[in-house]
Amino acid sequence: MTTEATVPHRRRRPWFSNRTGGDVRRGAAAAGKTAALLRSLELATRPVHPESRAALDRRWSELPEHVKTPAQLLGRTAVGCEGTHGVFPKCNLTCTPCYHSADANKVRIDGGHTVTTVKEQLAFLRRLRGPRAHAQLIGGEVSLLPAEDHAAALLAMRAAGREPMSMTHGDFDYQYLLDVALDPGGTPRFRKISFAAHFDSLMRGRRGMPRPRTEAELNPFRERFAAMFTDLKTDHGVSSYIAHNMTVTPANIDQVAGVTSAVLDMPFDMLSFQPAAYIGDDRRWGKGFTDVTIDAVWDRIEEGAGQRIPWQGTQFGDTRCNRTAVVLRTGEKQAPLLDPADQKDLDARDRLLAHFGGMYFGGTPNWVVALKVMRALLAHPREVPVILRFGRRLAKRAGGLRHIISAARAGRLSLKTFVVHNFMDAADVAPAWDLMEKGVVSEDPKTREVQERLGACMYTMSHPETGKLVPACVQHSVLDPAENAGLRKLLPLSPKVRTEP
Ligand code: SF4
Repeated sequence: MTTEATVPHRRRRPWFSNRTGGDVRRGAAAAGKTAALLRSLELATRPVHPESRAALDRRWSELPEHVKTPAQLLGRTAVGCEGTHGVFPKCNLTCTPCYHSADANKVRIDGGHTVTTVKEQLAFLRRLRGPRAHAQLIGGEVSLLPAEDHAAALLAMRAAGREPMSMTHGDFDYQYLLDVALDPGGTPRFRKISFAAHFDSLMRGRRGMPRPRTEAELNPFRERFAAMFTDLKTDHGVSSYIAHNMTVTPANIDQVAGVTSAVLDMPFDMLSFQPAAYIGDDRRWGKGFTDVTIDAVWDRIEEGAGQRIPWQGTQFGDTRCNRTAVVLRTGEKQAPLLDPADQKDLDARDRLLAHFGGMYFGGTPNWVVALKVMRALLAHPREVPVILRFGRRLAKRAGGLRHIISAARAGRLSLKTFVVHNFMDAADVAPAWDLMEKGVVSEDPKTREVQERLGACMYTMSHPETGKLVPACVQHSVLDPAENAGLRKLLPLSPKVRTEP
């Protein structure tokens, strides 16, 4: 037996190192952590997240050919809007029309159900449609939710990568908004909050104006709603994005111009109009809904804005469903962000969509936005002059740089988005969807038109229980009644109390 065999072997450390094995392991772990951090930083600041890219490409490939135009934004920069359903069906106003099913008010508001269901629906959307999208917290009157549950639902939506918007009739007090936006200690839960409020003379039961006779009578209520968000910013530093929604029927179409003109002077960011459809609760249907066309509503918007608002430069989905345009407002005047009559604008649109489509900044810290933009511009430096020339044309349309700066100084500079969303009638949607489920393209031109629109839908609802995403028209026309019947059993208005025999 040699000495070497009996003496425990001690490996000699290299003469240049005094590190122990533990030091090496700790060093390797630290290097691993640094590498993981750098990888996640690289991903977070990548102009377009790879999962978003994949979701956009999938969306584009699934779109019907007739909407694959250069103006189409679905599949190129957005997957489309999302909305919740069956999460709080009840409402405390009565409107004509109402898109909720006839027994929606027989379902109890239950915050636990809302938050759980929102999480399930949003997780499914996250899985199928990528990490970023806009989503509406909708499906009843959101302000009937206790504020804590409302806030929890919004936080769950954010956790799923969604930019949430709460859809309301707007008849709630500042304290409710504070309770949603701030935690019980008074600290903001959100940097920015987003609400869409529905105001029109077809609504009954608003406090202080239970039966409005004209749209103009509602202007003080519109102003009061918008002012709550200005106060929220002043008092607590929470920014907001707020939309004004209005349903349009033959009874109020001639007041659309007046509403547009009045609301443009209020701090709403979006003015959205919905021609009424025969959908939802048939006890609330009126006459002549089909006479109100998407074009007729857009004409009234232009009349109210006092100028043309061209929407043809960009498109979400099918032109028979949606119209959208963004303008830069410098006081009285509005400059369209994109002028579809200017070929240079269209060329810029095509180049920017090709190189920067899918970039998403909502709910993103400023430093991440800055790095994303920097990386995008470094990857496509030839687009910098395109952007600058585009900005110069926009400034010219808006009355010149000096005019814009003086409007900004006076607090008169803003971006306004105009939207018309044209739901379809349940009687048309149901047979078209039935055939689509069977993979049949209808021979009937009217039904085929509905199928084309559903195929290009930009407003999606999630059904994790069946593994399906459906257009909102299908949700309200086909699925809501059965869903609400189930909810009536799950969440009855007066839960039965069991008594021991
Ligand atoms: S919800 Fe209906 S009207 Fe709206 S985009 Fe989808 S199919 Fe068109």
